[in-house]
This record gives sequence, C-alpha cells and structure tokens, in this order.
Amino acid sequence: MHNKTLAQLSHALHAKEISSVELTQHFLNRISRFDEQLNSFITVTPERALEQARAADQRLQSGTAGFLTGIPLAQKDIFCTLGVKTSCGSKMLDNFISPYNATTVEKLDAAGMVMLGKTNMDEFAMGSSNETSFYGAVKNPWDLKAVPGGSSGGSAAAVAARLAPVATGTDTGGSIRQPAALCGITGIKPTYGRVSRYGMIAFASSLDQGGPMTRNAEDAAYLLKEMAGFDLRDSTSVDSPVPDYVASLNDSLEGLRIGLPKEFFSKDLNSEMAQTLETAIKELEKLGAIVKEVSLPNSHLAIPVYYVVAPAECSSNLSRFDGVRFGYRCENPKDLSDLYKRSRGEGFGSEVKRRIMIGTYALSAGYYDAYYLKAQQIRRLISEDYKKAFEEVDIIAAPTSPTPAFNLGEKTDDPVTMYLSDIYTIAVNLAGIPALSMPAGFINQRPVGLQLMGNYFSEAKLLNVAHRFQKETDWHLQTPNGF
Ligand code: GLN
Repeated sequence: MHNKTLAQLSHALHAKEISSVELTQHFLNRISRFDEQLNSFITVTPERALEQARAADQRLQSGTAGFLTGIPLAQKDIFCTLGVKTSCGSKMLDNFISPYNATTVEKLDAAGMVMLGKTNMDEFAMGSSNETSFYGAVKNPWDLKAVPGGSSGGSAAAVAARLAPVATGTDTGGSIRQPAALCGITGIKPTYGRVSRYGMIAFASSLDQGGPMTRNAEDAAYLLKEMAGFDLRDSTSVDSPVPDYVASLNDSLEGLRIGLPKEFFSKDLNSEMAQTLETAIKELEKLGAIVKEVSLPNSHLAIPVYYVVAPAECSSNLSRFDGVRFGYRCENPKDLSDLYKRSRGEGFGSEVKRRIMIGTYALSAGYYDAYYLKAQQIRRLISEDYKKAFEEVDIIAAPTSPTPAFNLGEKTDDPVTMYLSDIYTIAVNLAGIPALSMPAGFINQRPVGLQLMGNYFSEAKLLNVAHRFQKETDWHLQTPNGF
C-alpha cells in the first residue's frame, strides 16, 4: 500500500479495496515503527487522522468523495493547523496550539485528505540540513548518517521512507527542492503567489512559497492542483485560474528547448555530479528536447543577495515573537525589556538569532542603502537574467544541489559552507519563478536531483517534463533499504 501513487490510492479507495481508516492506520503504524530512526515528525496526530479518515469513508460511501478524499498526507510544521501544535521547529513555538488553519491546511482538509501529523524542519525554515530544528536533526532514510536536506527535511524523509504518501513543504531559498534532491523524491516550488501563504509562518515574505513534496511528478500535479489558487487573505496571492496540471502531463517534448546555464555547468561542479546530470539530460534529448547553452551572468550574486534580503525580512517577521503574544515566555521577567530580551534570547536558536542580527543591521539607518537597497537592485538583475534566458529556451536545467546528501555535523560549524548548499536554488526564489527537483541518479548510494526551472506560471510544463522523464527512468521508484 505504501508504494502506491496517489492515483492508485484513489482508485483503491473508490473501488472499496481498502478504507481510508485502514490506509491511515497503515501509515500510522509505519510512523510508529520507523520514525524513531528518522525523527521526521514533530507531532503525529492519530486521533485527528482517524476522525478525518472516518469522515472520508463516509464521503466515499455516499458518492461525494473527490479524487484525494481519504488519502493521508503529512504537513510541514510551518503550516498553522487548528487545535494542533504548530512549532515551526522552534522552542519559541513549542507550546503554540494554532487557533486557525493555514489556507493550505484548509484546502487539503476540504479535499478530504487525512493529515497524519506535522513534519520536522529547520527552525523557522532557516537551514539546509534540518540540523537547526529544536526537535533534533532528521536522518536521511538512504543513509542514517546523512542529512535529509532542509528546511523541509522532515517532509522529504517521511515521503522517501514511505511514512506518508505525500507531504507539503515550503521553499524560501531551496527548502523544497534541496531536501527533495537529497532524499530522492520530487518537489516543486511554484511561482511566487501561486499558493497562498496565509497561515504559513513567515520567514522571508517576498521569497516564501509552499508546494508539494511527492515521489513523482504525477502526484505533485494532483497535489499542486489542490493547493494552488487565489486567496483573498493573502494579498500576494495571484488571481489567475489554476490549470489542470494533470491534463498536460503526457504532452510531447518534441522541440522543447532546454537551456543549460554555463555558470552552473562549469568546472566548479564536481565531475560525478556533472556526469549524472548529463546522463539525465540526454534522456530528455531522447524524448525530443533540444539542449542549448544559456547564460545567467549574475547568478554568482544570488547567495550574497539572498543573505541580505532574507535576513532583513525575517528580522521584521520574527519581531512578533516577543514573549507577549505567541509562544515562549521567560520565567519571572524583571520588567518589560527583560521579558523581551530573555524570551527571545531563550526561545530562538543560534541560526535564527544570527539571521535576525544580520537583518537588523542591514536595515538600520546608514546601512540600508549600502546593503538592503543594493541587494534589491541586484535582485532585479537576477530576474532580468532569467527573463532573457526564457526568450531563448522553454525551461532551464540545473543541478539542485552541489553534492548529494552530506553527513550530519559536517557543515554545522561553518554557516557559509552550509549557505552554499543552496547555490543552485536561491536565484529562483529571488526571481519568483517556479522550479522542481526530480530524482536523476545516485552517487555512492545517495540520491541526486536534477532541477528544472521555468518561466512564471509554467508549473504545468515543468511537471510535464518531469513526468515524461519519469516514464523513461526508474530513479523515482527506488526505495531506501530498511523501509
Ligand atoms: N537554506 C536556505 C536558508 O537557510 C533556504 C531555506 C528555505 O528555503 N526555507 O535560508
């Protein structure tokens, strides 16, 4: 059961081969059996899940069920979930029971999906390895010594180990794609504004975007169809119709122009990685795609720009955690200032504090023009690079991550090395375009992801390319040993 796709699960439920309660129990059992090793969930919600499963079974009986009704999923613990602890991976919100649902939760609930629980993540989504979580690191199911990537590492590990059929993630600088790559699954970061950010705890509001983390592109198409759409409660959500991502999955790739940015496939990319990706790209050529070189001349500036813009926005977003309104409050404060200082000092972990300090500095009078404004100007140049490239090609292929999963503890002492894990993913968020990562091979038994980037609102094209690739390859069907 746990190796079935969403379409197969939906068929089994509608044909009454299995009930949603049985299916849900099956995944809950897998979580109890395996998650001690992985630590991919912060909270498991068996009672809520079984209640939703019973309701789904009723809908299936009465003929009012939709395609996803009765299928379990895991939600990243960044999505506010009514009545359920929503921690964002932080001690600051360890005691926070959300009084409302994020739009994504509301939509997937309404579709009749069954939430198994909330997945582990880097604290406030800041990290590339899941090691900044207050709840401890997540382990990569392919090798328990390795990181799963971050910040949506819990969702990636849970889907890879078949503890949930699909999961949600969020991506501010790579947090859906990089863990998807490191855990051998498929993940798509939609165009900025495609999926509502309402109730998705904000890290950097101009970059954050939620999206599906699944085993294959077809599942991602089904899940994204349900997650996407305009939301009055998110003023940055885009009011344009959601295409049927499933309908175009099998479109021909004949004549599709794929750009390979020369800056990404340079001598800096390690040779095993380059070889693995070249083989994958050849597969796309066999399907009719035409490959040509493109240039993204400002891509080397993406990391420095991101590490001004994202901390600046986070320093403002995280000011709401003051010990008064949400979450953690220190013991016996002397006065108001002591309350603020100690609540924040004790509630936030060191990576979050580092970002808040960088952001506050970059926004302060006298430095604003030199850092923040400059970063915004370069951000525009980065978007222009993509705009130009998409005049010549339909999609861009790139590595998702410079290496396969690295070992736990390997980069924790060196933030800059850690930040470089996102060197190929971050520019996409700065430009606001969509991109996905799909399994494309292995190096030393650790998965490698190929990233596909597209122009604004080209999610259907990206999913189409990934689906056609997955019909010819079986990287996405491999399962980690022991799960
Ligand atoms: N790894 C990047 C960071 O630490 C991106 C995280 C994300 O996409 N949420 O900020």
